[in-house]
Amino acid sequence: SAKRHGRNHDRRFRPSLEVDGDRQLALVNELRRALAQGGQLELHYQTQHRLADNALVGMEALLRWRHPELGPIAPNDFIPLAERHGMMVALGGWVIEQAVSQLASWRANGMPSVPVWVNISALQLIQGDLESCLAAALAQHRIPAQQVGLELTESVLLDERAGDISPRLEALRRQGHQIAIDDFGTGYSSLAYLKRLPVDKLKLDRAFIRALPDDRADAAIVAAVLAMAHGLNLEVIAEGVETPAQRDFLRQHGCPLAQGYLFARPAPARDIEARYLNHAEPAQQQPQYHPGAG
Ligand code: C2E
Ligand code: MG
Ligand code: MG
Ligand code: MG
Repeated sequence: SAKRHGRNHDRRFRPSLEVDGDRQLALVNELRRALAQGGQLELHYQTQHRLADNALVGMEALLRWRHPELGPIAPNDFIPLAERHGMMVALGGWVIEQAVSQLASWRANGMPSVPVWVNISALQLIQGDLESCLAAALAQHRIPAQQVGLELTESVLLDERAGDISPRLEALRRQGHQIAIDDFGTGYSSLAYLKRLPVDKLKLDRAFIRALPDDRADAAIVAAVLAMAHGLNLEVIAEGVETPAQRDFLRQHGCPLAQGYLFARPAPARDIEARYLNHAEPAQQQPQYHPGAG
């Protein structure tokens, strides 16, 4: 049900998954096969921009599953499935390997050298050895850790099963990784943890961006988070920026970075290359990619 799955998740593909346990198990097995055989899983990349001049500063890797019969299934639907059925470490490992290998090919063909940010599930820290998984992929493809940022949600950072996560984040940062708190502001934790967690960046959840600049409460929250982050020496990126008015509000309130459909939709690597490889143009003038349309 929608409630059980929480807040602002995209439910376009949910009906096909509102199914009985048997169907879920079948889907899990299909996901397992997709992971083993390749072809159905793909990373899309969404560009991140500096608000001062629109410059490309990074990309977020977002996992896509195109099921042969059901079509595209949203990550908010199949990632929880993978987590429940013991597949997340393998799936997350695939994402890391894929992103790092993409970085290597971009490095070879002269793409702008910006970090790729990868979403990390709590289970990759609890059940898996995230540190080794990253180190192996980086070594194999000769990519510096500075090129791979890690996005963790508040719930991941505060998941008690992961133990005291600070030393592990410290170690990842010592290796060279940057760490961002994803969907910042949607968790239920106190702000005190910001003081002790070794992170570099906050990703301001799009729930706070959506109603900008008109909603006075959201405007106040965003302004306050920006001031606080500045004081704590944390960088902020706004997620889900869709309109010039939202961008202008953020710019005026000192938000340095943004990501969202206004700049670009998540797109396959080849589309990103077409945009940035030879004939670089401002992102807004590019045709937008619509998930599920191709
Ligand atoms: P997220 O990490 O917060 O990613 C941002 C989501 O917002 C993405 O949805 C992106 O397509 C969408 N988005 C970006 N700009 C806009 C915008 O301007 N407007 C709107 N309405 N949406 C925008 P997506 O790709 O469906 O991913 C959903 C979530 O699934 C992600 O949220 C992340 O939590 C998870 N996810 C995706 N890929 C991975 C992965 O490789 N590993 C893990 N563990 N989780 C992943
Ligand atoms: Mg993310
Ligand atoms: Mg997010
Ligand atoms: Mg999210």
